[in-house]
Amino acid sequence: MGPRLHSLGAGQRRQLWGRANVNSFHPPVRVLMGPGPSEVSARVLMAQARPTIGHLDPAFQSLMEETKTGLQRLFRAPNHACIPLPGPGTCGMEAGMMNLLEPGDVAVVAINGLFGQRMADMAERAGAEVVRVEQTWGKPVDPKKVEAALWARGAKLLAFVHAETSTGAMTDPAPLCALAREHGALTVVDCVTSLGGIHVNAEEWGADVLYAGTQKCLSAPPGLAPFAISPKAQAVVNARKTKPRNWLYDLQLLMSYWGGEGGRAYHHTAPVNAVYGLHEAMVALFEEGQEAVIARHLAMHQGLVAGLGALGLDLQVAKAHRLPQLNTVKIPEGVDEAQVRLHMLNRFGVEIGAGLGPLKGKVWRIGVMGSSATPRHIRVCLTALADALAAQGRNTASVQGALDAAEDRLSAHV
Ligand SMILES: *Cc1c(COP(=O)(O)O)cnc(C)c1O
Repeated sequence: MGPRLHSLGAGQRRQLWGRANVNSFHPPVRVLMGPGPSEVSARVLMAQARPTIGHLDPAFQSLMEETKTGLQRLFRAPNHACIPLPGPGTCGMEAGMMNLLEPGDVAVVAINGLFGQRMADMAERAGAEVVRVEQTWGKPVDPKKVEAALWARGAKLLAFVHAETSTGAMTDPAPLCALAREHGALTVVDCVTSLGGIHVNAEEWGADVLYAGTQKCLSAPPGLAPFAISPKAQAVVNARKTKPRNWLYDLQLLMSYWGGEGGRAYHHTAPVNAVYGLHEAMVALFEEGQEAVIARHLAMHQGLVAGLGALGLDLQVAKAHRLPQLNTVKIPEGVDEAQVRLHMLNRFGVEIGAGLGPLKGKVWRIGVMGSSATPRHIRVCLTALADALAAQGRNTASVQGALDAAEDRLSAHV
């Protein structure tokens, strides 16, 4: 292996690219336990490495059809149109907000973390009048506050995040979607971190637009945003007075590419290999079983929390609202939190996340997502964290104590 590009400075890199023999990039070996991306299984990586074919090839078109059906099953949205949008999870958010909103519309956006803030920003850019329903970071969205906002003015849309990755809090979408329906508003539900990790059920909730990302609990590489839209929301999009300002995520144009059986028109070139990866990730998920996957996330979370408890660490979010797949862990007084993350990365290759916004410096974010939700990951993470704390002279409990505490929940899963 030649020199590692990622460890070189900008000057050295320029020098390298100036020569003929530029070396391949070899990523370091990592244990991904941050807020995403999660680890990608060998079978998904291998699926993505299969030969690229034309995006209008009949074989790719049947893959598109299977992918759409798979997403309907994942979102539990048999009547929604489901497609994977090209781009990160954020493009699902953008497609939802930009297509449903027109200048002058009223949008109620519930904000209990970073991604709610992003939704409000997008609604504003779409020209909507935005009513922000603010909630303390780390708490779920309060339906009473949302109801008050919906009463205040005729809202066209209610947007909120199911699984707030910035805080680790879960909001129950069912009552919020019911409230929106009562007030004649459409719903946009961010399921980026929830899909594949906890129950997502578009039909039961009566949610109109749902979107996700491939790199969280689906454990495919980042680059696609699974997207679902109800017939009611599609009718609203089709009746727009103005065209959305963004061309790539204009749903009417997109649906002529992903929607048309047999008669697909060129819109953009689908990221062919990324679709192979998402398809394989869904095959793996359905093989294991949707319920089994959700149970595994929960068991790994419980094992992690038990181990953290043995290390004297507590979670930021109240037990009833915790996301199994994203754990915000309170940083003990006097601990250098960045040094802990660096120690875990350098000594064990374990990546965990830092806090964001008001939780910056107050929590670590430990992801237990998809292929990273295994007993091995939990054990390595606890060991690395205990060692990092010990290096700061902070640890009273032993690594063994943490592993023993976790083992009950872990041992049921291979
Ligand atoms: C990660 C995430 C996003 C954004 O996804 P990107 O792929 O980073 O664009 C949006 N919402 C939530 C809740 C997320 O966790």
